Amino acid sequence: MRFDNKVVIVTGAASGIGRASAQMFAEAGAKVVACDLSEAVHASVAAMGGEAVALRMDAGDEADVERAVALACERFGGVDIFHANAGITGGASGIFETSAEVWAEVLRVNLIGPALAIKHAAPKIAERGGGAILCTASVAGLRSGAGGAAYSASKAGVISLVQTAAQQLSTSNVRVNAICPGLIETGMTQRAFDHARETGKQGRLGRLNPLRRAGEPEEVARVALFLASDGASYVNGQAWVVDGGLSSSHPVTRQEYGKPAF
Ligand code: NAD
Repeated sequence: MRFDNKVVIVTGAASGIGRASAQMFAEAGAKVVACDLSEAVHASVAAMGGEAVALRMDAGDEADVERAVALACERFGGVDIFHANAGITGGASGIFETSAEVWAEVLRVNLIGPALAIKHAAPKIAERGGGAILCTASVAGLRSGAGGAAYSASKAGVISLVQTAAQQLSTSNVRVNAICPGLIETGMTQRAFDHARETGKQGRLGRLNPLRRAGEPEEVARVALFLASDGASYVNGQAWVVDGGLSSSHPVTRQEYGKPAF
């Protein structure tokens, strides 16, 4: 997959899935606007090679999203692809423990952020004849049990958002899809991975998964590149799950190849 002369904006590009996505797009020839709230986005861009520029911004703030799109247009001449990936967990709390302030902040970053990316990037992408928008959702948006109440609802909202956007962008040649990662080792999940390793329980991570392991950021980023590519020219308005098979089953006793099922 090559993205020569394509202009890509990635949010949450200082760490984890966003950093891997920005890096892979740059390696594949794209001009990248790497965005993040964190100062570390500058180091990500320095390590990236290719043609990339870093922007510190808040992905849930409308003026900042407009700034990112304007930077892509000024520096690189337009926008072809937007990976709206920045996200926060808001903690692992349930409905009864989550304050209204946490609800508002999680929805602002995780759901309104991607909506603003679509609102401001899609017209620019359409101007260049079409392209793709990818929004990082989560398996937490498919059903309960993979995150806090606000996080899960925000990610379910992202899946709904891409469906609506695909319809509203009919005839624009802009495709909009969501990616639903399972458990991936990134900044967001690092404490859990560190704790498991420190206590010798690393075998438990991903044990409910048929692949019996957690995923790497690059395994999600590769799907982002595919969905942004012409290879996915007929994929639109969908939630693509990248979870090693985790969400393919109800929580029954796990099976093993070559052993009786139950
Ligand atoms: P990460 O913490 O490694 O990276 C997230 C990045 O987003 C960080 O660099 C952070 O500074 C940035 N960010 C946070 N709020 C921001 C804001 N308001 N504006 C701009 N940048 C902001 O975590 P990650 O796992 O790579 O997360 C990327 C996406 O993947 C998130 O949307 C997350 O919900 C989703 N996801 C992660 C997992 C997982 O297991 N790691 C699973 C499913 C979905």
